[in-house]
Amino acid sequence: MSGREFYRDTLGKIDRSAEKLGLDKGVREILRYPRRVIEVYLPVRMDDGSLKVFWGCRVQHNSARGPYKGGIRYHESTDLEEVKALAALMTFKSAVADIPFGGAKGGVACNPKALSRGELERITRRYTAALANDIGPYTDIPAPDVNTNPQTMAWIVDTYSQLKGRKVPEVVTGKPISIGGSQGREEATGRGVAICAEEAMKYKGLDPQSVTIALQGFGNVGTHAALALSELGCKIIAVSDSKGGVYDSEGLPIKDLIEHKRRTGSVVGFRNGSEIGSEAVLEVECDVLIPAALQNAITKENANRIRAKVMVEGANGPTTTEADKILERRGVFVVPDILANAGGVIVSYFEWTQNLRREYWDLEEVRGKLEKRLKCQFKRVLETSEEFKVPMKEGAFILGIKRVAEALETLGLFP
Ligand code: NAD
Repeated sequence: MSGREFYRDTLGKIDRSAEKLGLDKGVREILRYPRRVIEVYLPVRMDDGSLKVFWGCRVQHNSARGPYKGGIRYHESTDLEEVKALAALMTFKSAVADIPFGGAKGGVACNPKALSRGELERITRRYTAALANDIGPYTDIPAPDVNTNPQTMAWIVDTYSQLKGRKVPEVVTGKPISIGGSQGREEATGRGVAICAEEAMKYKGLDPQSVTIALQGFGNVGTHAALALSELGCKIIAVSDSKGGVYDSEGLPIKDLIEHKRRTGSVVGFRNGSEIGSEAVLEVECDVLIPAALQNAITKENANRIRAKVMVEGANGPTTTEADKILERRGVFVVPDILANAGGVIVSYFEWTQNLRREYWDLEEVRGKLEKRLKCQFKRVLETSEEFKVPMKEGAFILGIKRVAEALETLGLFP
């Protein structure tokens, strides 16, 4: 699915939920469009002395509930339409998480695997300089996403602070701890996925100690979700990354698998289990499936072959609307992305709060607050889906849109 189709799909979701809520036509119209789209072209000196221009963007979707908030992704195939869809999803994710943020997203079209650390640093600093007047701790607060990490955030803090003439760590979240990052931020999204998976298991009467789990994507989200779930006693039987996957019906030792991936760059070739394809992992017979790679992994082509009872969407937009319908018909209980992977933005909110208050919370405090908030919003989404007699995915959208619409209507229109 192209970025354009992904965006159209997201708009369809907004429209359907707005319809169910009987939202005012004007408010509905506001929610369909981003408030601002900023495109930048970044001239960057490459290691071989040549000069290359990279395309990037920042899409600010909505700030009715608070400053714009959302990650920055570095990916070869990222485009404006994809980033527009992701920015809109962030608005509703912040609202579903009930934190005082709006939604935004950024992207730079590049292949980080083909770039040196120095080249990545120069791209990041140019991108920050180009957007220095558009981001800020009270306006728009970026964070990591696919192929960006705490180091990327540190370069942003440094560049932004140099340009502003003062230290501004609160301009981004997901920073390294040494420069004002929060305990538990790096693990937060994956941990949140695990918390939602646990809640879904409870709801479906599944015992965590005896469930089997398959997981697609073994990056930040996938590894931390796998770690937290294996600590709960769940058996992770299949894991894949972009190079391939590994399957063991007895359960994979997650810490060893993470170490193997750290050494070799992939889960492929792990001593335990047998090889399996990157996408084949989605079709493994298991209790809980966690797509935690990229969007549109589950389409009408493979949705009929999914054999899990519960699916927890770690990635953003991993399931197309057509696939959603198939999964619903087949009785798969889906915990939607805007709830399931909200752990990252929730702890981002904790990080921002700590920075502004000049406070440091310990890991236990962060984990406790995350768990409490996510469990509470899981319940709210479930209640909404029961009230409107819709699946969790639509329930989450309805709840998010309702909260944003309330803020928009309360604020009124200027001028
Ligand atoms: P990442 O780059 O750390 O990891 C992505 C993983 O997916 C890698 O292991 C990669 O090899 C794998 N992958 C890519 N294509 C694949 C394929 N076809 N089959 C199997 N594996 C494949 O990224 P991440 O931060 O873990 O993000 C993953 C997803 O979660 C994205 O959709 C992202 O938008 C979403 N997300 C991330 C965060 C966060 O805090 N990092 C927060 C919310 C949502």
